[in-house]
Order: sequence, then C-alpha cells, then structure tokens
Amino acid sequence: MTATGTSLDFGPLVDELRVTYAQGTTRPLGWRVDQLKALLRLLEDGEAELLDALAADLGKPRLEGWASDLAVTAAEVRYSLSHLKRWSRPRRVRLPLLAFPGRGSIHPEPLGVALVISPWNYPVQLLLAPMAAAISAGNCVVGKPSEITPATSAVLARLVPRYLDTAAVAIVEGGESETTALLAQRWDHIFYTGNGIVGRVVARAAAEHLTPVTLELGGKSPAVVDADADLAVAARRIAWGKWLNAGQTCVGVDHVLVHGDVADELTERIIASTTEFFGPDPKASPDYTRIVNDRHFRRLSDLVDDDGHEVIHGGQRDPETRYLAPTVVAGVEPGAAVMADEIFGPILPILPVGDVDEAIARINGHDKPLVLYAFSRSSATAARIVERTSSGAVCLNGTIVQYCIPSLPFGGVGASGHGSYHGRAGFDTFSHHKAVLAKAVHPDLNPAYPPSTSLKERALRRLL
Ligand code: NAD
Repeated sequence: MTATGTSLDFGPLVDELRVTYAQGTTRPLGWRVDQLKALLRLLEDGEAELLDALAADLGKPRLEGWASDLAVTAAEVRYSLSHLKRWSRPRRVRLPLLAFPGRGSIHPEPLGVALVISPWNYPVQLLLAPMAAAISAGNCVVGKPSEITPATSAVLARLVPRYLDTAAVAIVEGGESETTALLAQRWDHIFYTGNGIVGRVVARAAAEHLTPVTLELGGKSPAVVDADADLAVAARRIAWGKWLNAGQTCVGVDHVLVHGDVADELTERIIASTTEFFGPDPKASPDYTRIVNDRHFRRLSDLVDDDGHEVIHGGQRDPETRYLAPTVVAGVEPGAAVMADEIFGPILPILPVGDVDEAIARINGHDKPLVLYAFSRSSATAARIVERTSSGAVCLNGTIVQYCIPSLPFGGVGASGHGSYHGRAGFDTFSHHKAVLAKAVHPDLNPAYPPSTSLKERALRRLL
C-alpha cells in the first residue's frame, strides 16, 4: 500500500499494517530475506531513475549519487543478509546458581509497526537503510521521505510498492502536515533522521504513546589537526569530507581546529586539494553538487557574507542554479555566525588553536558532535582525544569512511542524537531483546519460600 498524502488520516494504513504484523507475516526469516533481496533488486533496477531524481533534486553527480546513496544502502542490505540468521537466533546465557536447574536465553523479537522519517541530503540511503533494518528485524514499516527532494521522494514512492510486500511496507509522501498526522498514530518504534528542532517534535509525539525513538541528528563535527599530522593527507581528506554533497552531509567536517604552527600550511593545502578536485572553476565541474533549495541557499549566502570572518577562498555563487563555491574562511571571531550552528553547506572555517588540549577543551565546551575527526601521527594524541571527548564516533586520520562500515554502529550522543543503526546495531534497534528463563520443574527448591529459617537465610545469602 502507498499513501500519497491525499488524506491525513493514517489510522487505516496503520491498522492494515497491524493486521499483517499480527498474522505473523513478517516474522519468518524467509520473508525478511525475500524483502531484503527485493530491496537489492529495487536498487539495481531503479538505479538510473534514482540517479536522475538525485540529479534533479540536488544536482548530484551520478558517481557520487551512486556511491553515497545507492551503493552504501546496498552494502548495508547485503551485510544484513549475510548475518541475519545469526542475529535473529536466540542466544543462550550463563545462569547463576539461583536459577539452577534452568536455561536462560535472549530472544530478539520484532517490535511491530515502525515509522522511518528521513531528510533530504541523502534521500535514498537515509530512507531505505533504516527501513531495511526494520525489515531485517521482522517489522512492518512506513517510510516518510523528505518533501525537500520531491523527485527522489516520488521515485521511492513508486518503486517501493513495486518491489516490497505492500501488506507490510508502505511509503507516505508529504511534508510537515503529513508527518504530524503520522506522528499522531501509535507506532512501536520511530526512527527519525534530521535536525534537532524537529527531533524534539518527534520525541514529544512519541512520548504520548511511550514509543521508543531513535534520533539521528546533526551538529558541528570538528576536524582536529595536530602539528605532527601528515598535512597533505589531512588536507585532502578534510577537503573531500567537507565538499562531498556540497557540505550537506551530517557526518561532514563542519570546521577545522588546527595547531597554530601548521594552520597556514594546512589552509593552503586544503585550498590546493579543492582546486585539484574541482578545477579552478568548481561551477564547471561535473563532480560538485548544488544547494538543495532557495531557503538553504539564502541561509548559506548570508553566512558567507557575515562579517565575523574573512573569506580566503571561494565565496562565488549563483542563486539561479543554487551554486555555492567551496568556501574557506579564516580569522573567525569569537561568536561568529559560522560557529553558532551546524553549517550544513560548503563553508569551511579554519580556526588555529594552541595545541590539542585547547581543541579538546573547545569541543567539550559545546554540544557533543556526531563525529570527531582527528589527524595526528601520534597514537598517544589519538588516544587522548578518544578518551577525553564524547561524540557519536571518532575517525582518526580520515573522514566519512567510518559511516560506510556496517560493523560499526552509527548514531549520535547528546544533542547529536541517540540510538544507532548500521549492521547489527540496526537490527538491535528495531528488536526487543526478550529475556527468557526456563526453569526445570523439579527439584522445586527455593530458599525464599516462607517460612524463613536460619538455614534458608544462609542459603539465600550464598545464592544472591
Ligand atoms: P528535512 O527538512 O528533510 O526534515 C527531516 C524530516 O522531518 C522530513 O521528512 C520532514 O518532512 C520532517 N519534518 C520537517 N518539519 C517537520 C515538523 N515540523 N514536524 C514533523 N516533521 C517534520 O531535513 P533536515 O532536518 O533539514 O535535515 C538536515 C539535518 O539532519 C542536519 O542537521 C543534519 O545534520 C541532520 N542529518 C543527520 C543525519 C544522521 O544520520 N545523524 C543524516 C542526515 C542529516
């Protein structure tokens, strides 16, 4: 079934999914495997259509669209397919004497009917990967793509019912009104990816039904560069991690905190890498994405023009095509606008710091970031950064790649979100881990049975 946003009463849709769930359709491993395989076929057969839609919505280069939206999703699905049997099996646990004789185990069970709300920046992956996790755990699921990327949303709404079981999986298109109406329903899990303001709206709606939520939010993810880092590699990896999707990446580099001794050299190298990637005029490069809409274009334009910093590279723009050049800014003043909120666009502030400890103190003085990138040749420095800061993830001497590894859980902490997915973490997020204790009927010895005696008390004290 596919609701298309013509009606705001999603009760009948959720009821139908509840019937499917209650019938047990989605529980067998065979159904889950079939659905995941169908999803892989959707990604394969629908590749051209999806890439066209990504190009229409975001001016996304085809290779980048394929790699970051389609291939990452397919890798997630394939990883689930090869591990699903083991993940879904009950796990025996050791029992203390207290439970003897008996058997203890943990049984993963699906939660029921889940809702996945996704944003526009990687509109295929951020919808289908959590939906795949919900399916792999045996749930019915409704996916709500972002209205800000309407072409991709329309293709997903057309393809999903063509490939997946329409009795268990649905797409609802629409914006704030549709999402508000969806949130009024009772769900067994809500998985939201997007900004923290709407994250709060989602959490409040979920609280009404005591529904568990996963919030995949954003924040200002820094890249710390120490004086001993390989500056050529750091510059290239930072430039790639920043300009990917024109900076509209939740795990993109927001800003750089660099040791003062190497700040100039790093800045020059980042600018050189940028030119290496996109040529002297990035507007002409087929590898550079556009800003998603006029609202975000104006927001980013205002940020470039703010007088709290100096633009040392880029800054050129074209409102017609929503092109904003990769822009490097320095001389960032305390309280500058670029340091107030997540930038989420191609503007890179480079801030010199005295040393790594100063960088750590700065990071700890703000919201916990989604990712912390750190560049240093010293393992002691790396360990210090990992131990003394808190973030959703840390990637040492690299950017972005940690996101694409299904064996690493992905999620935020504090203001960057809570809960996680990718690989096993996704399966676990959409499962309840039910404790099952099976006691032998005999012998029926229990020192806690009244009446108490000193012998029973001694036994109890040894057992507990
Ligand atoms: P968006 O505007 O597409 O919104 C996300 C979803 O929320 C959409 O489906 C939208 O329809 C819905 N929505 C919007 N307003 C709503 C409202 N008032 N009530 C209910 N639903 C509403 O995307 P966005 O929020 O601009 O996404 C960008 C943000 O998402 C950034 O902060 C980024 O860091 C974060 N992000 C996080 C991750 C992650 O995995 N942690 C991934 C991508 C983006």
